[in-house]
Amino acid sequence: MDCLFCKIVEGTIPSKKVFESENILAFHDITPAAPTHVLIIPKKHIPSMNEVSHEDMSLIAEIHQVAQQVASDMGVSESGYRLINNCGPDGEQTVHHLHYHLLGGARLGTLTG
Ligand code: 5GP
Repeated sequence: MDCLFCKIVEGTIPSKKVFESENILAFHDITPAAPTHVLIIPKKHIPSMNEVSHEDMSLIAEIHQVAQQVASDMGVSESGYRLINNCGPDGEQTVHHLHYHLLGGARLGTLTG
């Protein structure tokens, strides 16, 4: 399967990992949009939010637990952060493997501008 994030999971494409468990990987975004910008992904290939199924609920819960841990490790728990999923063309999803952006380290502005 020609999936960038599956290759990062396999290790054939390098990444700066900040967390790894049996099911989840978190690594620094290659083009950070904030002082802290970490991508949290399931190792299982799920193309987008639209394909998340009932059997994936434990993975989604684990991603939230990992987000808490990563935010703490990056020192942004108290100052705050965003956890964002982009889905589909209007969501500007560019990598078709489910992922959540954890952004922090600066005031990020309002979503409505
Ligand atoms: P999306 O736009 O799909 O929500 O987010 C994809 C993210 O993957 C982007 O923020 C982009 O910078 C990041 N990205 C793309 N290619 C690579 C890569 O090879 N390594 C890492 N670490 N991040 C990448």
